[in-house]
Amino acid sequence: MPVIITPIVMHYFEFTIKISGPFTDTVVQRIMDAGCLGVVEQDDSIIAYFPDTVDVKTITNDLSLLQALLEKSGQDHRLSFSYTVIPEQDWNETWKKGFVPIDVGDRFTILPPWEKKRKDRINLIIDPAMAFGTGHHETTRSCLALLEKYAGKSDKENLLDLGTGTGILAIAALKLGFHRVVAVDTDLLAVDATRKNAELNAAAGIDIREGSIADLNETYSFILANIISGVLVLLAPEIAAHLKTGGIAVLSCILAGQDDEVLETMTKAGLKLFESYPDGKWISLAVGR
Ligand code: SAH
Repeated sequence: MPVIITPIVMHYFEFTIKISGPFTDTVVQRIMDAGCLGVVEQDDSIIAYFPDTVDVKTITNDLSLLQALLEKSGQDHRLSFSYTVIPEQDWNETWKKGFVPIDVGDRFTILPPWEKKRKDRINLIIDPAMAFGTGHHETTRSCLALLEKYAGKSDKENLLDLGTGTGILAIAALKLGFHRVVAVDTDLLAVDATRKNAELNAAAGIDIREGSIADLNETYSFILANIISGVLVLLAPEIAAHLKTGGIAVLSCILAGQDDEVLETMTKAGLKLFESYPDGKWISLAVGR
């Protein structure tokens, strides 16, 4: 998922890394660890920005190593890369180009603050300069689509956004008419970003807290959790325990192939499957009790 930090350096390296298939996530993880400021994933390539404070040789060496490993492994997937230096004055424009408005589900449009709001749409304004989860990721989009679909089947009394990131799902839930929305994240930066994005969207009333599900005492009509599947598996009993009878949970960030394990733990915890929702290599699950 893109991680974006406001840049404070002079020049930037813009890497274009061509890669597809199952190694994309490994490459994203490696470049994030190497000090990347932000990534935009496209169909068959990754655009990654580094500050001029990084040692560019270390990054090119690392990518060359991955390239050689992939070639040796005899896989169909190849890696190639190039980079350019972007002077500071071009930075904002270059960065902004990556964040065009997108329509999600039947009613949502996600847009950055500098774009004009769309008429007849539920606008979700997300400032990508502040945190992670701009809505351009399949898992966020799937959560929004499933939230929209299942909101009509919910009493909408209350909703928990577990791992809120930018707050995008919590804001969407409030705009869909959920009466009480609680957003939690273990990362303080996400909590700050959610506060700011809630303000940008005039979404007052979201209860935003640092922490996780174990810190909460109430039960919910709806739970959204877009968190890597390993964490979902660990949190399954807590998610089930915090869901009301008749409640619905949407679980996302599950790679195809890992969905069986997530579903099994959810079923063991007492939840039943409503729908499995694929988007690219990702699967989201709508479950209920
Ligand atoms: N909900 C957003 C962001 C998802 S990114 C979206 O759909 O785009 C996942 C978020 O979960 C991150 O912000 C991360 O800090 C948070 N997170 C990870 N493990 C968590 C846990 N155990 N409890 C609460 N939040 C967690």
